[in-house]
Amino acid sequence: MNTTTALTTSICILGAGPAGIVLGHILLKNGIDCIVIDKYNREEIYARGRAGAIESTTFQLLNKYGLADTILQKGRTQNSCEFRYPQGSLVFTYSDLSDGDVHYVYPQSNLNDDLIQKYIDAGGKILLHHEGQKITQTEDGVTVECYAQDIGEKVIIHADFVAGCDGYHGLARQSIPDQAVTIYNKQYNYRWLALLAYAPPAANHAIYALHPDGFAAFLLRNNHVSRYYLQIPLHDQLQDWSDDRIWENLQKRLAKSGCKLPIGTIFEKRIMALRNYVIEPLRYQRLLIAGDAAHIITPMGGKGLNLAVQDAGVLAETLVSYYLEKHELSYLERYSEIRLPYIWRAQEFSCSLLNMLHKSESNDPDEVRFHQKLSEAKLLQLTQPTTFAKNFARNYVGII
Ligand SMILES: Cc1cc2nc3c(=O)[nH]c(=O)nc-3n(C[C@H](O)[C@H](O)[C@H](O)COP(=O)(O)OP(=O)(O)OC[C@H]3O[C@@H](n4cnc5c(N)ncnc54)[C@H](O)[C@@H]3O)c2cc1C
Repeated sequence: MNTTTALTTSICILGAGPAGIVLGHILLKNGIDCIVIDKYNREEIYARGRAGAIESTTFQLLNKYGLADTILQKGRTQNSCEFRYPQGSLVFTYSDLSDGDVHYVYPQSNLNDDLIQKYIDAGGKILLHHEGQKITQTEDGVTVECYAQDIGEKVIIHADFVAGCDGYHGLARQSIPDQAVTIYNKQYNYRWLALLAYAPPAANHAIYALHPDGFAAFLLRNNHVSRYYLQIPLHDQLQDWSDDRIWENLQKRLAKSGCKLPIGTIFEKRIMALRNYVIEPLRYQRLLIAGDAAHIITPMGGKGLNLAVQDAGVLAETLVSYYLEKHELSYLERYSEIRLPYIWRAQEFSCSLLNMLHKSESNDPDEVRFHQKLSEAKLLQLTQPTTFAKNFARNYVGII
């Protein structure tokens, strides 16, 4: 490393994922200087395709800042999901129980890339292929040391605050001493095969299967790409799951009489550990964390992207108020106070849904059968407009 460049800004945003780039947009629109940095280049960020279901609250937030046009132009809406189980199936039209609220279906990769382009077009400062390596805090500021990978140069960013939007494996989370926060963590004793396939949609809505062999799901992405998940035992490896075995299991678990899954070509196949994780509070001195850096949630219920964008919205509004009127560090507590109840509500919903739809991995066959019957009993409650069904609809579509 030869040269060092020094930059100064108000907020250094680590990570150009959904949380970081939305935060950058809102700060920019409010005239607060910020620099977004990401360790990957644009193509690499785009390649990390993940979520696809955008809740209406998230949509409204993006729309408020003029960031939702491509979702409307290129995405589609979804107002129901389907549960399949050995005895039958249930199409659950959640918009009927949630004042007409719907999901917008648009791949995260596309949304994120659109947001980066819009940020650049609006004159936002962004340093891609710059890896944040060290955060140093003083009483009146923070310094982020980065490494510019393309030119082999060190970049030092001096800022008032750093926003850690760099995901679970990023620098921000590691820069908080354990004793400064409380960490809540949960792991599951089964995993998922997470698949992306070039295949037309199996339906116009998400399908979740509660099957004695284990959970399976189909999720809408677009007309050519479909997302599938399969519950697998904890110690299974990728080589245990050939494409033929995967399609055979998907067909079996997602079976419904008269319906056949459109088989396609699997282009992404990975094993996902299922984990829930929350850090409290969401601030350590001048470091504020948002999105996956602050909380991890399994993809069940499609909450992670939505929480990340909604965190960014509240964090941005809190920082704007701090600069325009409050000027007190203690004012920033507001961010955790507002966001944590929503984060926990999403965690609770996602964990309950996961538990309801998964086969128990207990070694006791009686326990496995009992768990399956409890799940079916819960599912049955969605067939009537019960309080449970209404709450489920509101939580699923993400009404806050
Ligand atoms: C298979 C899968 C399916 C999912 N499905 C859904 C779904 O259906 N619905 C849903 O809502 N959510 C889903 N999620 C979760 C969702 O994708 C995440 O919650 C979301 O990406 C979080 O956004 P983020 O901005 O917090 O973090 P990220 O998207 O992880 O972005 C973090 C950014 O920080 C950068 N970074 C990391 N370290 C550094 C560093 N040291 N210096 C600089 N930059 C750094 C990374 O390169 C990255 O671009 C899914 C996740 C997975 C893995």
